[in-house]
This record gives sequence, C-alpha cells and structure tokens, in this order.
Amino acid sequence: MKIAVIGTGYVGLVTGVALSEIGHQVTCIDIDPNKVAELNQGIPTIYEPGLGEMMLRNQSAHRLFFTDQHEKGLDGAEVIYIAVGTPQRADGSANLQYVEQAARDIANNIRKSVIVVIKSTVPVGTNLHIKKIMNANTRPGIQVRIASNPEFLREGSAIHDTFRGDRIIIGAEDRETADVLEEINAPFGIPVLKTDLSSSEMIKYASNAFLATKISFINEIANLCEKLGADVEEVSRGMGLDHRIGMSFLRAGIGYGGSCFPKDTNALVQLAGNHHHEFNLLKSVIEVNNHQQRVLVEKMVARFGSLKGKRVAVLGLAFKPNTDDLRESPALVIIPKLVELGAEVITYDPIAANQGPRWINAPAAYTKNIAKALKDADCAVIVTDWPDIKRMEPETFAYFMKTPIVFDGRNCYSIAAVRKARIEYYSVGRPDVV
Ligand code: NAD
Repeated sequence: MKIAVIGTGYVGLVTGVALSEIGHQVTCIDIDPNKVAELNQGIPTIYEPGLGEMMLRNQSAHRLFFTDQHEKGLDGAEVIYIAVGTPQRADGSANLQYVEQAARDIANNIRKSVIVVIKSTVPVGTNLHIKKIMNANTRPGIQVRIASNPEFLREGSAIHDTFRGDRIIIGAEDRETADVLEEINAPFGIPVLKTDLSSSEMIKYASNAFLATKISFINEIANLCEKLGADVEEVSRGMGLDHRIGMSFLRAGIGYGGSCFPKDTNALVQLAGNHHHEFNLLKSVIEVNNHQQRVLVEKMVARFGSLKGKRVAVLGLAFKPNTDDLRESPALVIIPKLVELGAEVITYDPIAANQGPRWINAPAAYTKNIAKALKDADCAVIVTDWPDIKRMEPETFAYFMKTPIVFDGRNCYSIAAVRKARIEYYSVGRPDVV
C-alpha cells in the first residue's frame, strides 16, 4: 500500500517507520525543513529506543522517505495519515488548527480519491468536521473517505507498543474503509476493534482519562498513607493483585505529565462542558495532579524552612524515563518554584539535558553527568525514574553531596536500602527516613 504520513513528531515518525517495516511504501511529510533534513540523513529527530535502526533499515530498503513538500509526499498516496499535534488551548480545549491545516494541505494536493486516517487525538466530531473541510477544497470528482485510528503508543516504548499493542481501534463511516485499514494493520497481528467514528474518538479520550484517574487515585492514597503511617508501595501491591484492579498505573509519585494526559483530560472536561455535562470526577483528577506536582517542594520547605542559597540537584527532566520529551513534565513546575524560593539549581538528565534550557523558565545549570549534579549539593530531588538513577546505590548520595538529603518523587529505592545507606530520605506515601 502506498501511504503518506503528515507530521513526523513522536506519533507520525513512529507510525511511518512501523508501516514501512511491515512492508508498506511510506512517505512522511513535515513542515519543519530542519526535521526533514535530519531524517533524510538517517538521524531520528526524537529519542525512542529501537527507532533509529528500524528507520535506517527501511530508508535503505527504499520503503521510507521524508519530504517537506506536501505535493511530492502525497503524490500517488492511497491512504494518508494525519499525525500532527493537537495542543491545548488556553481554555483547555484541543487546538485543531494543525489538523485543519493538514486537511487543507491534503485537499489542495491530491489528484485521486483517498482514505484519510486521523491518528491525532481529536475531540468527538472532529473526523466529520475534517471531512467537510476536505470536501470543500478538493478538485471535483475526488472522493475522500475518512477513518479514525487513535494512537496508544507510550513515549519511551513506542516501537514495542506499536508492534505489541493491546488493540488497534478503527473508526469508520463505512465497512469498506474499515476493511482497508484492517488490512494495512494486519501484519502487526494485534486485535482490531472496528467501530463508528465518534466511539473511536471517545475511546482515546476515555482511555487516557481513566489512566490519569488511576494515577491521581493512588497519589491521594499515598498522601493519606503518609498521614496514617502506611506504605503506599505495599498498598499498591495489595490492590494490584486483584485482577479487577491490576498493577499498572498504580505507582504513587509526583503526578502525571507528558504531552497527552494533561491536555487530553482538560480537553475531555471542556468537551463535556460544551455539552452541558459537568465531568466532576475528571476535574478532581486534574486538581489532584496539579497539587501532586508540588508535594516535593512542600516537603523541602518543611525540612529546610528556607531554600535560599541551597544548592539543589534535580535528577531527571523528562516527564518519564526513556524519552527526551519535557512537555508538561513536573520538572517545569518544580524547578522554577525552587529558583523562586532562592535555590541554586543544577539538573541532571541522561538524554533530555540539552532540551532543558528551551523548556525551563528559570535560571538553572544542566548536565549529563550525575556526579557533577550531586557534587556539594545540599539536597537532591528525583523527578524522573531513569534506570541509571534507580540502579544507583543510595550510598552515592552520601559520597558526593554536602548533606545527603534526598526528596524522591518516584520512590526509586527501598526504605531498607536507604536506611542502610544512612541518608535522609523523603519519598511519596512512605515513611520518612531521618
Ligand atoms: P508533535 O508535536 O511531536 O509532532 C507534530 C508534527 O507535525 C511536528 O513535527 C510538526 O512540524 C508537524 N506538522 C504540523 N502541521 C503540519 C502540516 N500541516 N503538515 C506537515 N506537518 C505538520 O506531536 P505528537 O506528540 O507526535 O502528537 C501528535 C498527535 O498524536 C497529537 O494529537 C497527540 O495528542 C497524539 N498522541 C501523542 C502521543 C505521544 O505519546 N506523543 C501518544 C498518542 C497520541
């Protein structure tokens, strides 16, 4: 199948590479010429384990191409995926301007009938809205059929998730279109659920909102555990063993971040409000998360009184391990707050350190060397549970820091290991070690 993918961000690039890997002829289009130039040199523009090798393999096999010219990229395509961003507007709703522009780009450039697949996360009703835009702009006689195929990959394990996902959702107006999409995806060997357009759009938002709810729920339990002397790690394990609940998304910490959960929960609240439905549960989930991103700073202030002049090592910038993505990372909240309170901040991230200055709205130093970050620090704050941070012996803090006081937002170490290392340790939902 000859396929075009519009947008080469986290979703578009992984989608294009994966579709070429299963044998399709794929051209990825992006309006950013710098991205396209790098991709054409075989350099992946995002950090994603396993992506680079797969990309190069398919470029060498002449199954995968990149261009910044829509006309060239769309030429001859039978199926066109839209995978551009849908960021949050100031009022919380999803900004559809990029999807709408991609639709106009398609309509202006196609010369034959096509199937357009919307992979971007879009509010219920958007697929039909986009179809109208395309119909109004295409040449006479050209037919556009539309399908919704929301993406469920997780940054950091995107290749694994694309090839081993739990399900592929295909929403379509007619059976023929759904069948074409099913055939394209057949080599992945993942169960397919075919449904209508609106349900498909809703499945994506409902899934993210549910996972965010699980996280905020366990974080509230963690906050209560701290007050009552229980250990949230034990509580999560005990809950998760119940198959109806399950272990995943039950890890307490400093809240969810990233490019999806915050914006998608806000968009669903907004969408509900537009239809005169107060989604109170989800509003609370968001409120709990906003507070949770600040709990470590509260603990630090309680411990030190004033942070003025304190040297603070912030370990981890990315919103989760194995990605260089800082969008909505708790680091964006924590670091400016520490600086505002007078701390001198040095940050460590093995992959995202270079991205820091672009995202962090406060003066801070950046390093990829953890020892350098910890050296002479008055305290350390763990924001991201990168494997190298988790693997580190807690004794390392005592070795490098002026005073080994650690605020761990990801519960990286067992309480027993921390006690043995003789460090002062504050985590989430577990007893303090002082
Ligand atoms: P992104 O911001 O990383 O990438 C979007 C890309 O689209 C950019 O490279 C941009 O230059 C390009 N673009 C914008 N308009 C264009 C146009 N008219 N023509 C060609 N290129 C254009 O976004 P992302 O993180 O990949 O997310 C894309 C969509 O997928 C969003 O709706 C998001 O909610 C959804 N999603 C993201 C993830 C994730 O983990 N990132 C997971 C599931 C779903």
